[in-house]
Amino acid sequence: MSDPFFAARTCPRCGADLAGGRTMSRFNTDPICLACTEAERRHPDYAKACEAELAAVRAGDRNFPGIGLPPDLARRP
Ligand SMILES: [Zn+2]
Repeated sequence: MSDPFFAARTCPRCGADLAGGRTMSRFNTDPICLACTEAERRHPDYAKACEAELAAVRAGDRNFPGIGLPPDLARRP
């Protein structure tokens, strides 16, 4: 069974090697590197994204795709 989350080898945001660690984005389903995870945590909409995910899980939606990636996080450096 191939899961796109684990199949990805590089971070879709910055191109870093995901062998160093990966997490699921809070804004969408991207597998992102730890540096990009930190960038998400500093984003003003991060709390909103977490709340929306929590609300979806409480409503029984385990495949919540996220609230959408803010354009300023999607940018590659
Ligand atoms: Zn990254």
